Amino acid sequence: MPLTMYDYIGPKDIADAVAKVAPGFPVLSSAGLMQWLADDQQQADINGQVIATFIVDENGTLRIADRCSEHVACAGGRPVQSAGEMTFQVDKGQARVHAVTNQSTGYCPEPQSWPQVADAIRKAGLVAPAGFHVNFLFRKCTDCHALNVIKEGVFVCAMCDADLPADWNLA
Ligand SMILES: [Zn+2]
Repeated sequence: MPLTMYDYIGPKDIADAVAKVAPGFPVLSSAGLMQWLADDQQQADINGQVIATFIVDENGTLRIADRCSEHVACAGGRPVQSAGEMTFQVDKGQARVHAVTNQSTGYCPEPQSWPQVADAIRKAGLVAPAGFHVNFLFRKCTDCHALNVIKEGVFVCAMCDADLPADWNLA
């Protein structure tokens, strides 16, 4: 099956604003991940967890950035194989992947992009969870063009009450 690439579909002014920002840190080893956590001065929360913005780039490399970063900045403005938020559990000088979601309104990747995320995590020398911790379903309203995040399986536009398409339609 050919790989699905997701283009950035968020506001152009955000893409323009981050055009000169360096792309996200490529995680190539667990030691590299620890180095990023230190260099970026990431503070673990009370549970020892750090949440980061992540993307899987066109080459299948996991790239991460501070949680406040835009996905399009993390991706250097390029298409991605997936995107979302990744929670790391940091303990005794080790970090492991605790949870992952596909929450990115800039790219709106499908839950089906999980295998690419799992591959990227393994390529980074880390253990991949069984799947996305939360699956986000994104649809664009064909009437008012609002971006919707489907909640509880209800395919109705939050803005105009129109029915939303069953299939992903954000290309
Ligand atoms: Zn609508």
